[in-house]
Amino acid sequence: RVVYVNGEFLPEEEAKISIFDRGFLFADGVYEVSTILDGKMVDNPAHLERLGRSMYELGMTPPCSMEEIEVIQQEMLKRNPIQEGGLYLQVTRGAADRDFVYPDESTRSSLIMFTQEKPVVESALAKRGMRISFQPDIRWQRRDIKTVGLLPASMAKVAAQGEGADDAWMVEDGKVTEGTSNNAYIITQDDVLVTKARSNKILHGITRKAVLALAKEEGLTIEERDFTPEEAKLAKEAFVTSASTFVTGVVNIDGQQLGNGTPGPMTIRLREIYIDFARQNLS
Ligand code: PLP
Repeated sequence: RVVYVNGEFLPEEEAKISIFDRGFLFADGVYEVSTILDGKMVDNPAHLERLGRSMYELGMTPPCSMEEIEVIQQEMLKRNPIQEGGLYLQVTRGAADRDFVYPDESTRSSLIMFTQEKPVVESALAKRGMRISFQPDIRWQRRDIKTVGLLPASMAKVAAQGEGADDAWMVEDGKVTEGTSNNAYIITQDDVLVTKARSNKILHGITRKAVLALAKEEGLTIEERDFTPEEAKLAKEAFVTSASTFVTGVVNIDGQQLGNGTPGPMTIRLREIYIDFARQNLS
């Protein structure tokens, strides 16, 4: 693989970052993952817009303009010609002597990118459907900022897998917030699509926005509101959305099988129309 580090395209073995990088010392960094489909990026302008918002919310100086970031992304796709997978991009506040106070403007923020090849359309997990277990949401209170501080989410996923599930849905104050790296949805027995409303409590998923718009066009009734673990277990269908997994069915919640234990018809339909949307929004 060819990776990108601060102005250079290098073989991955040669890429280096300072041990003083604030991403390493303070998790002082933000990231985005644009899915690669048919050799191009899905809905990438929306990811760059959210990257800009994350940096703004943390008072982080962008490493360069968004246009320049896009040029580097395109060069990465040229140098790593994969059909399906993801392009990971990370900006940290850069390398400075260790201090809780942000370094001044003269410290250059750091930009890195790498690709990961993996099937996205023909996903084994999407065919089988995911098993979910509930875990306490112990993350910070600004989950709308996409930072690299992912340890609590990582702990939740490991705990879920320890219980025989594939992933966790995190619970706070008796309500489901989201998955460890995805937004969470249920379809009630009377066909209402329910997902938590946007706030600082969840990441504002790029896929979430697209899927809710597509679901509306399909004539589905949508409620953006809290739901409890108990309500989730009574659902007709459930699914998650993320850039890398699109729409993926949930077939078992906390040991309770949903429907016949395979991804439900509405979930399958939403996955199909999202993939069509993705193919129309490549760059
Ligand atoms: N929620 C969390 C905590 C995430 O980490 C992610 C993606 O990484 C999502 C939701 C889904 O967001 P997107 O659809 O933009 O990938």
